[in-house]
Amino acid sequence: MVSSCNQPPKYRAITRANVEKHPLWGSLDPDLREAVDIVSLVLPFRTNEYVVDELIDWANIPEDPIFQLTFPQRGMLEEGQYAQLRALRERGDQDAIDRAVRRIRAELNPHPAGQMTHNQAVLGGRVLDGIQHKYRETCLFFPSQGQTCHAYCSFCFRWAQFVGIEDLKFASKEVDELCAYLRAHPHISDVLFTGGDPMVMKAALLERYINPLLQIESVRSIRIGTKSVAYWPQRFVTDNDAEDVLALFERVVLSGRQLALMGHYSHPVELSTEIAQDAVRHIRATGANIRMQSPVLRHINDTSSTWVDLWTRGVALGCVPYYMFVERDTGARRYFDLPLVRCWSVFRNAYQRVSGLARTVRGPSMSCFPGKCHILGVAEVGGQRAFCLEYLQAREPDLVRRPFFARYDSRASWFDQLEPLSESDAPFFPRAGSPEAFTPLTVCEN
Ligand SMILES: *Cc1c(COP(=O)(O)O)cnc(C)c1O
Repeated sequence: MVSSCNQPPKYRAITRANVEKHPLWGSLDPDLREAVDIVSLVLPFRTNEYVVDELIDWANIPEDPIFQLTFPQRGMLEEGQYAQLRALRERGDQDAIDRAVRRIRAELNPHPAGQMTHNQAVLGGRVLDGIQHKYRETCLFFPSQGQTCHAYCSFCFRWAQFVGIEDLKFASKEVDELCAYLRAHPHISDVLFTGGDPMVMKAALLERYINPLLQIESVRSIRIGTKSVAYWPQRFVTDNDAEDVLALFERVVLSGRQLALMGHYSHPVELSTEIAQDAVRHIRATGANIRMQSPVLRHINDTSSTWVDLWTRGVALGCVPYYMFVERDTGARRYFDLPLVRCWSVFRNAYQRVSGLARTVRGPSMSCFPGKCHILGVAEVGGQRAFCLEYLQAREPDLVRRPFFARYDSRASWFDQLEPLSESDAPFFPRAGSPEAFTPLTVCEN
């Protein structure tokens, strides 16, 4: 990106359609170029010039974590899937490619954890599009204008929203509906704007969504889930409506509410540039807070020193470490996933080495059907090795903060692969579709 000193950089997406024009494309190994071309038929690919030019270290390809985070890699598809697409592409048979792409996408568990069926918001007998309500206090809102991102993460569990599968896209044009729902459910104190990335919206549009919420007394916190702080920090510094965005943040804070940006930071390099640090300073100067969260991923951030560095840099800038997630069972998860025992050891080793101010972080946490379940550790229970687990959030609030056990499994990488250690642990394993998934569970009173 060669921009003159006084011109603020303009956002330019790099996608499947124009990546070949980027000066660095030619320097990529032909196998890597082929992989980008083939894998991006199935999984969405979008990055931008800031990510490519400032965050990726081109002397360290393909290992560079941000290259792995934003460029499709061959290992993200099964060998057979990859070979088939390559053969079809050579034949130039577009219909057959389209059919194969649809089939492969359906094989990638596009909607994990009952998202389509079990988190619906219903008002007056009608399902509201664009709202998901899983936990009592918090509802998620997917503004229809915020359903893309400044760059896509190759691991993203919402990948199916970006590939144009009609009907599978959650969206809502109707902030009115959201307000009606919130008025009907005054126990909802938190609204979490998510997407995509709500921060792709212009300030004026964001205002149209946020202002009406400031009229609802029961809404005490507004959160915005965003990757823009890492992929396009210009949003808060040099974009031509950056000041309007910051003024809006200030108004939310002055209304007596908490405004939290849930910053998706996955690697310390995302906080290494001056503009990324300026973005944090500008946001915090409005009175908004920034909380940091990311999954732990093979090829990207699977060492504890990466997390020590990330949390330490964040805390120095006034950000609050919030969650370390386990990668969900969707999309290219086989490429990224780590055994749970390994996630726990990355977490524990990092946690042991940081200031108490960074120990606000919780994890490693799985957002699974029953709730957010974190791994406390591995223990011996009655002579058996077991995972000790606990819900931080749950559909059934009474499950929260009660330690329970699962049989130890060195290869398990997701909640669904775990088995209760004993009968008394069984209530902690409600499955989607089982009757107990919707009836309050009885667990011990202490
Ligand atoms: C994580 C999450 C929330 C927020 O949970 P907190 O514990 O309040 O951060 C809300 N809804 C869903 C579906 C979530 O996954």
